[in-house]
Amino acid sequence: MEKVDCIIVGGGLAGLSAAYGLASEGLEVIVIERGDYSGAKNVTGGRLYLSPIRDLYPELWGAAPFERPVTREFITLMGDGPHTTIELASERFATPPYQSYTVLRARLDQWFADQVMEKGGLVITKNRVDQLLLEGSKVVGIRAGEDDIGADVTIIAEGVLGLLASKAGLREEPKPQDHALGYKEVVELPPGVIQDRWHLNENEGAAHLFMGTVTRGLMGGGFIYTNKDSISLGIVVGMQAMRAAPEKIESYTLLDAFKELPQIKPLVSGGTVVEYSAHAIAEGGIAKVPKLFGDGYLLAGDAAGLSLNALVTVRGMDFAIASGYYAARTVIDARARGDFSAAGLAQYEQSLRRSFVLKDLQTAREIPRTIENPRLFTHYPQAVSRLLEQVFTIGPGPAQKLSKTVVDGVRKEFLNVRTLKELYAMRKI
Ligand SMILES: Cc1cc2nc3c(=O)[nH]c(=O)nc-3n(C[C@H](O)[C@H](O)[C@H](O)COP(=O)(O)OP(=O)(O)OC[C@H]3O[C@@H](n4cnc5c(N)ncnc54)[C@H](O)[C@@H]3O)c2cc1C
Repeated sequence: MEKVDCIIVGGGLAGLSAAYGLASEGLEVIVIERGDYSGAKNVTGGRLYLSPIRDLYPELWGAAPFERPVTREFITLMGDGPHTTIELASERFATPPYQSYTVLRARLDQWFADQVMEKGGLVITKNRVDQLLLEGSKVVGIRAGEDDIGADVTIIAEGVLGLLASKAGLREEPKPQDHALGYKEVVELPPGVIQDRWHLNENEGAAHLFMGTVTRGLMGGGFIYTNKDSISLGIVVGMQAMRAAPEKIESYTLLDAFKELPQIKPLVSGGTVVEYSAHAIAEGGIAKVPKLFGDGYLLAGDAAGLSLNALVTVRGMDFAIASGYYAARTVIDARARGDFSAAGLAQYEQSLRRSFVLKDLQTAREIPRTIENPRLFTHYPQAVSRLLEQVFTIGPGPAQKLSKTVVDGVRKEFLNVRTLKELYAMRKI
């Protein structure tokens, strides 16, 4: 059978990052991607945190097809009646080097695949890997259709469901309680309209998150990210929360309902939908990260459960790129030693533990359990909005002191045993 140094299953950001690192060092690397092109099947909300990964491939990012740097943050808390939007504009976010950018994967991943090819790596698209080839517990290559290809190391970067890896017994099968489902549209709008609607200057971007009735109180939220001449808008909802919901909800209807909300409609008005996608998201946190390496293989990106929903920040792309980078470094070092056994590849997990990837997931280890609390998506967004509504209300009679309004509101909404216990539990996140 034909044999190369490294085969990579999946041409998303994790796979391409590994391939770029390997090809840059002259290793023979093949990426096999089932989509028509890299980026065709890849879904993200839309914001890549560049700060954590800027130094990994410093030569790359200056020419990357990013959309807009995120210079303005919006969070909207939606209750049944009033809703509250917090808008944060900060000099720090608006000054280069920017900490994060909005991205469109169809552009970013294709560009990344081109960079891999320029370095001499091979990205084969429209091909699905059907099976990992095993000799005992060792992964020795892959089968794609009629073709078997051998490799010293196989990097499994097949994305969130990890079907090949779980079929080969290298990780657990995906479970609903560890995943959310995302629905997303890309809606074209003129740049000037985008800038007006989110208070931006040219070459500035916004991230706008929504919590509360937007998911009918289920764990999850809505998002809008501004691109150059489009917006990415979507809804994410926990699979388990959906299953446990008292009334059956067809999750895909949430996105249409979101767009029809009076708060959202004017933001989307006049736009043309040019892309629709749906995708799972790993939300199990570090407790659900599988064994990351073994004889002849490494797991990277979503296939390794490396993503983090911390409510106000959603991350996965930076973890995917970083894990690909460390996977490549590991294979390069293993090759120098001629040892592709589990022991020879153990450096991968050590590198991830030393890096922000497993450190951040460890720091956020309590978040997945904490955000299971449905009141975060029902009581709290409503309570904040109701309290502020009182503060801004002038009724027909004489007004009471502002401090009394606030104290009464806080007492009513937050000073009860249940809420205080929940707020106390949140100290761990
Ligand atoms: C709705 C939504 C919103 C998100 N928002 C954000 C965000 O704002 N910021 C952020 O950082 N992260 C976000 N994420 C997470 C982020 O998108 C992922 O963590 C990231 O895409 C993981 O990259 P990856 O390369 O590991 O996986 P993927 O991008 O899924 O790539 C896996 C690739 O493997 C290919 N593949 C799978 N099986 C096979 C096979 N058998 N043979 C060949 N090819 C195969 C697939 O076609 C795919 O191209 C979001 C995710 C979703 C779904």
